[in-house]
Amino acid sequence: MAKKSARALAAAEASRTPPTQPPSKVSVNDLSARSCLTCGRVITPRAKWASDWSSIKYCSDRCQSSRPGKLVARFNHSEKDAALARYDGCTVSDDAMHVDVELWVESVLLDVARRKEATLDDVQQQILVLLKEAEVLQESNHAEEREADSDGQDAEGAKGREDEQRHPLWKALDSAPGLRERIRRAARRLALGINHDSNPAQTTITTTESGRIELLQAGKALRTVEDLSFAKGTLTVRRKS
Ligand SMILES: [Zn+2]
Repeated sequence: MAKKSARALAAAEASRTPPTQPPSKVSVNDLSARSCLTCGRVITPRAKWASDWSSIKYCSDRCQSSRPGKLVARFNHSEKDAALARYDGCTVSDDAMHVDVELWVESVLLDVARRKEATLDDVQQQILVLLKEAEVLQESNHAEEREADSDGQDAEGAKGREDEQRHPLWKALDSAPGLRERIRRAARRLALGINHDSNPAQTTITTTESGRIELLQAGKALRTVEDLSFAKGTLTVRRKS
């Protein structure tokens, strides 16, 4: 058998290598920014996603599993729910009410922003007002129950019972990532103009040009997905006309 030199072997190897790089060789550094369709934050590129970057829609498993449209609170409908039904995401069928939680939060946010220049804390306040009006939240009752429970009961049992008694809508709104972050991520989606369609093309929206609202931090408008991702503290929301 003819013995080939290492150099000849290397040359033969090189001639077999196609001129374009295979997808698996795409460097993380070459990937352009994308937006998470749930939380509206920038998706940080990871090496394992490099070959499949254009189909990545969510920044995390949590965002994938809690994506808009996924969480619907269902409960028996009654008169007092009229306050909730004024917003998108709320549908009534027979005597049941269904609330698509992410859509509903966006709708309340848009309404608050339409009436005044508001902060995201104002939006949270408005949601709590609506929930009390619809008797989803009944603070005085809960406090009394807790007091009655406190004698000779273990904390876990009390927590379990409290959970059972919680209204389905409040349970949904308060579930991970919690109401405060739920409002913030709705605001980011609205600022970017990401809608509830999970088309991956939407993840390429990375500026606020086509957004429905403006988000401001200390009077300065946040204009990119990076700005929105890392903004902390009080954010003001202004609806675009
Ligand atoms: Zn996310």
